Amino acid sequence: MSEAELKSASRGVLYVVATPIGNMQDMTTRAIEVLSQVDLIACEDTRRAGLLTGHFAIKTALFALHDHNEEQAAGGLIKKLRSGQDIALISDAGTPLISDPGYKLLQRVISAGISVVPIPGPCALIAALSGAGLPTDRFSFEGFMPHKASGRIRALELLSDQTATLIFYESKHRIMETLDLMLEVLGDRRCVIARELTKTFEQFYRGLLSQVIEQLKADEKNQLGEFVVMLEGNQNPVNPAQKIEQVLFERLLQELPPKKAAQITAEITGADKKALYQQVIDRSRS
Ligand code: SAM
Repeated sequence: MSEAELKSASRGVLYVVATPIGNMQDMTTRAIEVLSQVDLIACEDTRRAGLLTGHFAIKTALFALHDHNEEQAAGGLIKKLRSGQDIALISDAGTPLISDPGYKLLQRVISAGISVVPIPGPCALIAALSGAGLPTDRFSFEGFMPHKASGRIRALELLSDQTATLIFYESKHRIMETLDLMLEVLGDRRCVIARELTKTFEQFYRGLLSQVIEQLKADEKNQLGEFVVMLEGNQNPVNPAQKIEQVLFERLLQELPPKKAAQITAEITGADKKALYQQVIDRSRS
């Protein structure tokens, strides 16, 4: 064995372990085995993790690692891994790092040359997509939308020409507001909402976005729980070059006569000057 191999053989492993998103029966046998055998479990919340480990009679010690202490705690965990201890990372539910803490720790663990082994299992976005009936060949996971409405509008505008299926996480506090904004910014398109996946009241709502909003509004109970929102991608995206042409033309129209605005837009973008001018004539007639 080379010196480098000896060094890495004596180091521990960081296991990234997926846990159930509501139904304990979704815990894999490999996840139970790994959590039982490691020296330490780093978790978001020791009380919640304690419910999981208690359920499976796992005796391993728990250590709280959350967004607020991840940076500082990473150093201590890396020391333990370097000394040969194995550590498992779990989150409150589902797959760690997917809209959950762990990214900073993994970056540092990988830079330190320590092995990372994922133990796959439940993940809300994958469960939701697999049952949605929307195209799955290409999808874009967007996680949680920004907190402020203005940030959410901007984020949605940037997604408006995305052709892949869009997937979002959302909480019960903002689900209705977010759906209304989606309708306003992205227009009516096919939507599927997966609520309370793997739990007693699991439900899928399917239809056009406007119809799904009505289904949720029909009963306040439909607005409770955890949600994955999925939208069909844009079926008729605007060519980005055309979009720039149009934005430039509209801006120049605010400053210049239509002929001049059309001429400059055509010079800069190569657009058809006559077609641009025709737009102004058509608008004045309608
Ligand atoms: N790491 C988790 C995963 O693998 O899916 C996601 C954690 S994120 C903090 C929590 C969000 O995931 C919820 O607000 C909800 O949008 C979604 N989610 C988690 N469990 C869910 C469930 N059982 N049904 C529907 N959505 C769920």
